[in-house]
Amino acid sequence: MTNVEQAAPGSNNFLRTIIDEDLKSGKHSGIVTRFPPEPNGYLHIGHAKSICINFGLARDFGGRCHLRFDDTNPAKEEQEYIDSIKENVRWLGFDWGEHLHYASDNFEQLYRWAVYLIEQGKAYVEDLNAEQIRAYRGTLTEAGTESPYRTRSVEENLDLFGRMRAGEFPDGSRVLRAKIDMAAPNINLRDPVLYRIIHAPHPHVGDAWKIYPMYDFAHGQTDAIEQITHSICTLEFESHKPLYEWFLDNLPVPARPRQYEFARLNLTYTVMSKRKLQELVQLGIVSGWDDPRMPTLAGIRRRGYTPEAVRAFCEMIGVGRSDSWIDVAILEECVRADLNDAAPRAMAVLRPIKLVIDNYPAGQTEQFQAPNHPQKPEMGSRSINFSRELWIDSDDFMEVPSKGFHRLTVGGEVKLRCGYIISCTGVVKDDDGTVLELHGDYDPASREGIHTADGRKVKGVIHWVSAAHAVTAEVRLFDRLFSDPNPDRGGADYRQFLNPHSVETLSDCKLEAFLAGAETETRYQFERQGYFRPDPKDSRPGSPVFNRIVTLRDVWIKK
Ligand code: ATP
Ligand code: MG
Repeated sequence: MTNVEQAAPGSNNFLRTIIDEDLKSGKHSGIVTRFPPEPNGYLHIGHAKSICINFGLARDFGGRCHLRFDDTNPAKEEQEYIDSIKENVRWLGFDWGEHLHYASDNFEQLYRWAVYLIEQGKAYVEDLNAEQIRAYRGTLTEAGTESPYRTRSVEENLDLFGRMRAGEFPDGSRVLRAKIDMAAPNINLRDPVLYRIIHAPHPHVGDAWKIYPMYDFAHGQTDAIEQITHSICTLEFESHKPLYEWFLDNLPVPARPRQYEFARLNLTYTVMSKRKLQELVQLGIVSGWDDPRMPTLAGIRRRGYTPEAVRAFCEMIGVGRSDSWIDVAILEECVRADLNDAAPRAMAVLRPIKLVIDNYPAGQTEQFQAPNHPQKPEMGSRSINFSRELWIDSDDFMEVPSKGFHRLTVGGEVKLRCGYIISCTGVVKDDDGTVLELHGDYDPASREGIHTADGRKVKGVIHWVSAAHAVTAEVRLFDRLFSDPNPDRGGADYRQFLNPHSVETLSDCKLEAFLAGAETETRYQFERQGYFRPDPKDSRPGSPVFNRIVTLRDVWIKK
């Protein structure tokens, strides 16, 4: 499944080679790229690839990158999306400076160019409806048929197009088409639609327009207006390139941008089409665009992924021209690599069971010093409380140990991380046989190290917290949203592959006391459990809610 187009950080790819040559040959003295989202949804991890490519090339070659909203369809676009896109590009660590642009800022110029095409006899107003236009278009093997309206006079076209703009006609009643070639082998050249009538307010230009340009008519010309040198897009636009160039060839544009295509990111165990992501939100399958299970930047950000990890991932997968699938495990590995280095350690008991140390005096407390990072003494240490009653994870106890189980059993011994060696002397159960409480003794001689008073070595080490000092927290364990590597396969309904266990909420977790006031921007490693951060929306001082960002190891290898 995984087919990583390997590229070392900062290494070469075909786009760098092209830009290098263009700069060396003097074709360009500097480069200008752009990231051109349509504000009709939230950005996802696939967009991150495009953002890193466009802003990354501009950074590395001393050029600039524009953020451009390709806002040509007001029916689907909203200010909320514009705001979230800006915020998430910034979060990823990129800055467009003064170059925030909107395709809609050029609507007047685009309109004039449409009029120019009409005047040149290269565009006409079409009265056929959408269905008829489709039928006339022909197929891959059959030429299309010319519309009866194709031969309208320039005067009639100018009149009708002006009235389209003035709002005289209802939605869908007419369009403006380029007059290119109904027999062109590339269907995109069979008199493509340039303008359609949409009576809807636009999030950026308000009520000014009743007609809106199509993406193809806006994109290249906007590139030219912004003096973009390298217009980088995904491979599905390759067949649009002749049209992109036709407009540049047939209009008095101020510059000559070039389009280059790269393979989009496909990631396993998720969907990335905005339509489907929106559906997940609208159907309430997830809690919102920023649900921590979503592949949106808002989602992975809330979950606790760092921009550094996402950028490292985009660097690692590289830029190629062949379609490939990237295993989401690679993204998770990048997150682990980043967090392992930076995350302070803490102890958290997710499924608590009480352990009473019978030979420790009630009411007594002592402190142990615990390093905040095992490899980084410069990150300091903290003191943790020990007392008679502790919480340990129920997973760390087995009444009847299975083979290879080195943690706590009745009659067995285990080392408490940074604390004493303790033995388990008994179990209290309810009538159904459910374990309610464990009892044990501590070995006073084992304060430091993993040896008992009589010199025996203990194999297992478990985490714990003092019951009297712990803070109770909710912890959300996230898993993949889908249980199939490709929920989109075969055009099947992707929803049948939803993972019913994609989130597990544990409401009675016991954490080290200092985590009660954890900063939402700090990511912790809960020892032996994974990486966690306070949920920025739901966590409150004193009653924290933690998101699991990623497990310590890839648990899916086993599944
Ligand atoms: P949709 O999901 O409706 O197909 P889109 O994701 O293509 O829309 P745009 O807003 O048009 O949405 O995308 C902005 C830019 O991001 C485009 O240049 C597009 O090529 C790029 N992009 C989108 N998806 C990916 C992806 N999976 N991998 C890399 N780049 C992507
Ligand atoms: Mg798109």
